Amino acid sequence: MSGGTEKKAYEGRSITVTFEARRCLHAAECVDGLPEVFDTAKRPWIRPDAAEAERLAEVVRRCPSGALRYELVDGGSETPDRPTQLRATPPDS
Ligand code: SF4
Repeated sequence: MSGGTEKKAYEGRSITVTFEARRCLHAAECVDGLPEVFDTAKRPWIRPDAAEAERLAEVVRRCPSGALRYELVDGGSETPDRPTQLRATPPDS
């Protein structure tokens, strides 16, 4: 036994997925939900960038054991916070 909780993080551009193998019940919700991200035949077996962060988060939430978790890189805000800067520039006369 190697001991301790083995939790691995898979970092994507806008979402990080963590996986704790010890908790996994092999319910395969993840693999069924997004085969392009979760592929146990590949290393790494989770590729967060292979799907939209939103869809990935949805599948991660389906994991019945809590082995999978996610964290949005930008803190989870869904609304774009680019400042609105519309300034009326009067034409030179
Ligand atoms: S959904 Fe969760 S419990 Fe099921 S196989 Fe994936 S990680 Fe394991």
